Amino acid sequence: MTIPTRTAIIAGNWKMNYGPQLAANFAREVVPELAQQLLRYKRIKCILCPPAISLAAVRQVLDEHPGPRLELGVQNMYYEEKGAFTGEISPGMVGELCSTVILGHSERRMYFGETDELVNKKAHAALHHSLRPIICIGENLEQYEAGRTEQVIRTQVQHSLASFPAQNASDVVIAYEPIWAIGTGRAATADGAGKVIALIRQLYSDMYGSDAAAALRILYGGSVISENISEFMAHPDIDGALVGGASIKQDFVEIVRKTIETIQQ
Ligand code: PEP
Repeated sequence: MTIPTRTAIIAGNWKMNYGPQLAANFAREVVPELAQQLLRYKRIKCILCPPAISLAAVRQVLDEHPGPRLELGVQNMYYEEKGAFTGEISPGMVGELCSTVILGHSERRMYFGETDELVNKKAHAALHHSLRPIICIGENLEQYEAGRTEQVIRTQVQHSLASFPAQNASDVVIAYEPIWAIGTGRAATADGAGKVIALIRQLYSDMYGSDAAAALRILYGGSVISENISEFMAHPDIDGALVGGASIKQDFVEIVRKTIETIQQ
């Protein structure tokens, strides 16, 4: 359960699902219900992250159902402002429609060769453009089984999160996503995730001081569904969730409902 000074975040990563037409249809189904849920409790934000080509379609639905704390995010972006970077989108372009950008998702790292250094450049660009970066880190199965989680996390934190301007250090959001839990149906336990998240907060405190670390939101991601969200949200170190598979289903509304129910207790 996120502490009262930190607003919880439930973000939905739609991945490569739903082109503009299907995205608008799905958004029309869930946005009114999400908006309704968000009226019940103030200290939570919900962020929908459809594919880039569907952002405008979902933006339109959000504009038709204005409500507080229901936002739009993108799944990736480049760090340059404009120019000859075929296929990429810039922070300025993202900022026209979105508040948030997911960076360094393990699928970007695995399939598109993104490194901690590239993720760090993108995070700097996001902050410069007043976008909220959700920076993903997490160990793979081999590293987990070899007991190397702490070492992997330490390296990712130190490199992906390096050299942020002091005034921006608390605007960052981190998603701890153990790769072995993503899309596998094998979620981490809240206790296991909570321990790694506590380590991340300590590392961040070493880099940016205890105030920035206390304000930092750290989400859990990996096979979150409505049946397990309460367990994660009941943990004092977990400030929300990055949801993949369940975010493109009606279950996402139930995840938000249960999050609110758990935080309110
Ligand atoms: C993700 O893609 O960030 C994710 C956590 O996926 P899933 O919820 O499907 O495991």
